[in-house]
Amino acid sequence: MNSLLDIQSIRKDFPVLNRQVNGKPLIYFDNAATSQTPKQVIQSIVDYYENYNANIHRGVHTLSQEATEAYEKARHTLQTHLNAERPEEVILTSGTTHSINIVASGFSSLLKEGDELLVSAMEHHSNIVPWQMTCEKSGAQLRVIPMNDKGELEMDEFDNLLSEHTRLVFCNHVSNALGTINPIEEIITKSHAVGAAVLIDGAQAAPHFKVDVQQLDVDFYTLSAHKVCGPTGIGLLYGKRSWLEKLPPYQGGGEMIAEVSFEKTTYADLPHKFEAGTPNIAGGIAFGAALDYMNQIGFEAIAAYEGELLAYATDQMKQIEGIEFIGEAKNKASVISFNLRGIHPYDVGSILDKLGIAVRTGHHCAQPVMQHFNVPGTVRASFAFYNTKEEIDIFVEGVKTAQRMLS
Ligand SMILES: *Cc1c(COP(=O)(O)O)cnc(C)c1O
Repeated sequence: MNSLLDIQSIRKDFPVLNRQVNGKPLIYFDNAATSQTPKQVIQSIVDYYENYNANIHRGVHTLSQEATEAYEKARHTLQTHLNAERPEEVILTSGTTHSINIVASGFSSLLKEGDELLVSAMEHHSNIVPWQMTCEKSGAQLRVIPMNDKGELEMDEFDNLLSEHTRLVFCNHVSNALGTINPIEEIITKSHAVGAAVLIDGAQAAPHFKVDVQQLDVDFYTLSAHKVCGPTGIGLLYGKRSWLEKLPPYQGGGEMIAEVSFEKTTYADLPHKFEAGTPNIAGGIAFGAALDYMNQIGFEAIAAYEGELLAYATDQMKQIEGIEFIGEAKNKASVISFNLRGIHPYDVGSILDKLGIAVRTGHHCAQPVMQHFNVPGTVRASFAFYNTKEEIDIFVEGVKTAQRMLS
């Protein structure tokens, strides 16, 4: 499978992978928190600031036109990537958190007492808290789809919870804390059957595979650029046109209006209705460059290779005595959450850092998941297509070293 991807030449695209940390070559296994950035994407940002930095959409001058063209070309790249029907169904946001807040805030005015929202038990805080605020404002009720001890949703319970009161169901495509790939096709079909809309948080799925929003028939889908080799501070909200027209704007300001007077303001058409103010222009352009980069490598090859890394790492780690895996779903992305019996995850992470290995420790913005498994947090190693089996070998030795030092 290594032949599918030329990993050594891919690694040359990522300048940061050359650096040393604490005197050791960096091993970056914190890809679920943020991915690294290839020089092609960095160059797109430099190119914008060096050659055509200007505000978009309103200028008649050349730089403004070039910037507008590049920004809208990026939107087109995102649209094509998701196979959205129209470019205006792709709203550029500051990231998944912002995207979810647009929908959650908009729904506050569409919901009433007696309405129900269903949330999965394995959500990131950004797909819980905005909805709690929506419920407070509207009187709607939040109900939780439980999961089993492998970290898989209990779909029978989901069937029981769905009813004619359900207005909206939201769930991540891939859990950032556990790696679980959720059965979103089934969730979408069943939700639609009772007339409920569906928002899928795709932040953690996007680095690993491509989705077709029309084929999924999903109502809303979210992404963050910084998890797909792009910069921070930019992401997208895909929404079906009919839904985006129904939702009220989230922020008021420039760019999002058709006409303003002190008596009455009318809003701009999509996508601008949800894009108030000067956007992250360089970020949007770089987001497009990042998906171009990943598509050029190919998501099928990426998924196959990462699947190999996951299987290899899982096998190696199973040999470690006293290891407890948190999240063992049958269907998993290349994320491994674990603990060493009797040792705090933070201590393991600190020793790995001394060895140049970056992993995440803590609750991963998913405290309810930690409560389910009754742990304070986990150590999480997450692999990207630029990681290697050699790095996994060094990591596994590092975990064993940490265990020896801490027990
Ligand atoms: C990272 C992540 C988020 C939050 O994304 P931001 O870029 O921080 O807005 C939400 N959900 C999941 C599953 C994530 O992995």
